[in-house]
Amino acid sequence: MATNTQTVSNANDTLARRRQANSSLLMRRQQEVFAKLPQIEDIGYEITALGADFTMAKLAKNEERAAKLKQQMLELEQNKRKMLVENGFSADYLDPVYTCPVCKDKGFAEGKICSCLKQEIIKQRQNMLTSLSPAPKTSFEQFSLEYYPDVTDEKGINPRRQMQQIFSYCKKYAESFNRSRRSILMLGSSGLGKTHLSCAIAEECVEKGFVVMYASSQSMFEQFENNRYDTQNILSDILDCDLFILDDLGTEYLTAHGLSILYNIINTRMLNGAPCIFSTNLTSQKALTAKYGEKIVSRLLGSCDTLFFVGEDIRFKKR
Ligand SMILES: [Zn+2]
Repeated sequence: MATNTQTVSNANDTLARRRQANSSLLMRRQQEVFAKLPQIEDIGYEITALGADFTMAKLAKNEERAAKLKQQMLELEQNKRKMLVENGFSADYLDPVYTCPVCKDKGFAEGKICSCLKQEIIKQRQNMLTSLSPAPKTSFEQFSLEYYPDVTDEKGINPRRQMQQIFSYCKKYAESFNRSRRSILMLGSSGLGKTHLSCAIAEECVEKGFVVMYASSQSMFEQFENNRYDTQNILSDILDCDLFILDDLGTEYLTAHGLSILYNIINTRMLNGAPCIFSTNLTSQKALTAKYGEKIVSRLLGSCDTLFFVGEDIRFKKR
């Protein structure tokens, strides 16, 4: 498993590659324009020369001359832009290219780490977590209600109708997702589509630019056990992301250490109003309480919309 330093240096490498790519893009553009309009290359030299004079004038505190030089530079710059446009290029075609104009792809602006580098670090850590528990690629379109029987049982439950409601709920949830949405608790035995729908929500949120972390319960707790020294790093990403999905609760081997981490995750995210999606095949409050204790279960039930998945294991039906 990668350490924190590695994560940061991977993120810095990404920014370095960005700078490299952007500067080669600019060079290609220059070659293209200069071949067609050599005057523009000359204007470039003139501006550079004036820039040097301007610096000298500033150093000599000759404000009048500095102002005049600045004006000349501006005029040349405007000329250059006009010529570019007249020849079918955009006015800013020869401006430096930055993926992040705030920090000019340096990762730092005004002495602070820029949000683009932060995003990249989160992405790197996210890759780490999902690489140990890969989130299945699913979409709402692939979800079929056909597998759920359209018959009402003696308790008045019609699986197809109920799943139709759950499906619409999840779709709306994804469409209008924001950082202050309520959390979701998906209950139901295995093979009823909990992972499918939670990952479909994840896919849509990621597409909208939200940072989503997915972990199957088993692999998350294994990670915390195997990397006790790095607990804080993994944990801080889980606490900070926009949406955290913890799949298949109840299948993991839980130690006291794991239990306290789970409480920390639930408690901190709930206090911050940050949404989570939990899914479990422990379908009764009694079973949940037996495994996680009352403190965790009451927090879960109090802060989540509960969805009861019903039907028969669709994985067998699909075959
Ligand atoms: Zn930036």
